[in-house]
Amino acid sequence: MTHHIVVIGAGYAGLTAANRLARRLSPGQAQVTLVNAAGTFLERVRLHQVAAGQAVPEPAVTDLARGARFVRGRVESITADRRELRLGSTTMRYDTLVYAAGSVADLEGAPGVAEHALTVSGTGDTTRLRDRVARIPAGGVLTVVGAGPTGIEVAAELAESHRRLRVRLLAAEDPGGRWSPAARAHLRRAFDRLGVEVMTGAKVVRVDASGARLADGRSVGSDAVVWAAGFRAPALAREAGLAVDGHDRVLVDRTARSISHPDVYAVGDAAAVRASSGQELRMACATALPAGRQAADAIADRINGREPGPLRFRYVVQCVSLGRRDGLIQFVHADDRPRAMTLTGRSAALVKELVVRNALRSAQRGGG
Ligand SMILES: Cc1cc2nc3c(=O)[nH]c(=O)nc-3n(C[C@H](O)[C@H](O)[C@H](O)COP(=O)(O)OP(=O)(O)OC[C@H]3O[C@@H](n4cnc5c(N)ncnc54)[C@H](O)[C@@H]3O)c2cc1C
Repeated sequence: MTHHIVVIGAGYAGLTAANRLARRLSPGQAQVTLVNAAGTFLERVRLHQVAAGQAVPEPAVTDLARGARFVRGRVESITADRRELRLGSTTMRYDTLVYAAGSVADLEGAPGVAEHALTVSGTGDTTRLRDRVARIPAGGVLTVVGAGPTGIEVAAELAESHRRLRVRLLAAEDPGGRWSPAARAHLRRAFDRLGVEVMTGAKVVRVDASGARLADGRSVGSDAVVWAAGFRAPALAREAGLAVDGHDRVLVDRTARSISHPDVYAVGDAAAVRASSGQELRMACATALPAGRQAADAIADRINGREPGPLRFRYVVQCVSLGRRDGLIQFVHADDRPRAMTLTGRSAALVKELVVRNALRSAQRGGG
């Protein structure tokens, strides 16, 4: 019987894996099924634009999946021992599973986040954020918690699009603290220009209806709080009994295969993927694409009776948009440490846009 490979999640990692598998294996060797909750591809790296009210492309998954059968539906459970998935009233069997379910906002980061904060991790929550921000009256305060790349992009985009609001960024550490001095200086100038007020040393311990409470006792009154301080994988893999880390990311070996279930591979934000140096890769589109490629190659190699090699990966840049007309490209060493070289301003915004477009094209091509 033909080997059935099911890929859960048509994001950057899952789409790359499905398209590469369909290319590398003949229909006689394997059938590839791609399952995704929505019928359209969500360019998550554009969610801050959605939050700011911009229209972004939403291509149909069927137009992007090449050679893989597409099934629209949310996988509710995985019975790993029987190699089965539940999708509503349907049961789907697999021989090999690629788990690429992405990540969600970590609502347990502080008490009150789940009840009172807005998030930016998928279409539904980001649309709620967009609508809530649009209703804040002039002079109102919007607080973004978390000064990693997502928090920086969200604060900058919302400040540029809603000049009537006061946008605050609460940061436990200096925003962009791991970047080069030139990059940090540019970020400060961009925030000054956009009117983003940065509060550093601000560790949020509670969110409530009136705003955020800090560990040092201060209160930051806000009309709305956006929680951009952490992401975690969905609970699906943990509930199925797969070995996961503290963020519910599937623990995988150097070929992207689950360390507890050899017929399961995991990629993208939903996996704790390591480079061959042993370094754990951060949740990023830049790591989801090569991980998707790696899993597909490992599965195809094993079906063809070959032993797959480990993931080969090196970081090159970190790209951050600062509104639509400014950006920051931080060149980095292979292990993600910053180099002195940075690109800023309009040319950086243009490079970032090209990188975003290329990410989708790369997934469509199955990772090149
Ligand atoms: C605002 C923002 C800006 C970002 N900017 C950048 C950036 O500039 N550069 C960068 O490298 N990264 C960036 N990221 C991170 C990047 O978006 C993620 O790391 C990337 O999307 C991970 O890809 P993925 O394929 O693992 O998951 P996703 O892209 O999240 O795709 C997962 C897919 O699985 C589907 N799914 C989940 N559960 C199920 C289920 N049970 N059944 C069926 N389908 C399911 C989801 O609907 C989704 O389509 C950004 C993230 C955000 C939120």
